[in-house]
Amino acid sequence: MPALEAASAAFDEACRRVSLRANLKKTTVTLGRGVDPSTIPPNLPLEKRAIVLKHGGGTATAVPALPDANASEGSLLAIDSPELIALEATRARLFERLTELQAGGLSLQQGYALLRTRVGGDATFLARACGIPAASATSLDKALEDFVGTFLENSNLPAVARPRIYLRVSDGGLGMHSIAATAPAANAASWHSCIPHILKRIELPTVSALTTASPWCAASLPDCTLQIQLASGDPAAVVGDTDISASQRTLASAPLAAAAVKVRAIIATTGRFAQAAFRSAGGPGSAGWLLPPSLAPHFLSNPAFRIALRTRLDLDIPCQVGLCQHRDAAGTLCGHPLDAKGHHSRSCRKGGWLVKNTTHVLMNLPCGATTTTRTP
Ligand SMILES: [Zn+2]
Repeated sequence: MPALEAASAAFDEACRRVSLRANLKKTTVTLGRGVDPSTIPPNLPLEKRAIVLKHGGGTATAVPALPDANASEGSLLAIDSPELIALEATRARLFERLTELQAGGLSLQQGYALLRTRVGGDATFLARACGIPAASATSLDKALEDFVGTFLENSNLPAVARPRIYLRVSDGGLGMHSIAATAPAANAASWHSCIPHILKRIELPTVSALTTASPWCAASLPDCTLQIQLASGDPAAVVGDTDISASQRTLASAPLAAAAVKVRAIIATTGRFAQAAFRSAGGPGSAGWLLPPSLAPHFLSNPAFRIALRTRLDLDIPCQVGLCQHRDAAGTLCGHPLDAKGHHSRSCRKGGWLVKNTTHVLMNLPCGATTTTRTP
């Protein structure tokens, strides 16, 4: 055993000297971030995978990002690359932690604001530097949608409401960040801003010369050019052209607009009431209650937040059954049948916007009960 320990220590030390990760179980070498390629012995079996260089991590000997051997289209990464697994794990931990905090008393309104902030840009660096495989982006978006579903009391976000959470708040959505819709734009914008520097540094005259010299660029740049052409409406636009201004925001506007058109088309098939509800959910200041509450009047109870969320997404409000209990000034009962989406409750002429027949609604929601609440 002492001999084994000594050999292991010598192995660790030898790896450390050349900045290699020491792992006796591995039969191939994985390059670390500080490896000088000239120090690697010939014929050493190297693991071909992308290495992500973080901001400020570049050194004179830094290895450039290499495509993974199983890289997906539009990305340097395979779907099982450590960077993507880490992103998924970080999000899973976030969802678990928010669930725990909510069980401990964090309100749904505050939890939602934290969630929206945290997932607003956590994939941006990876999307810009390496691209995110479409399958991973879709999977990350689905996990987010599933978690947003937990803000409804039954953890179920219907298919018709899922794409709507990514619309801007002023368009009637929830303002969530869709990785699938924005990652290609982020990657194209990154390429666009880097290409002039790349050409200058390696002394190549044009983008086409670069694609001839580099199979990686040849594989990556056509998609970026397409993104820029779609966003600019110019079929002759080419990625890296210094005359074109193409930021992540401008490039993402085309896919986001396409997503909004798709949502409107889906809603149009579900009837005029749904279209009216969608229109009334948009506009300036349409959902200030989705922002983090900072003053006492901004706070919503969990039942009120759930009703507001369901109303905004035009979903049925549980237990919204029976007859309207609003009374006018003379004390006359309304008695109109209630509808599942709460349209009558909000527009009742005997007491609209003040939901009174909610005792049994709130009693059946898990987070508490009051007899009367004002709908936001
Ligand atoms: Zn009524």
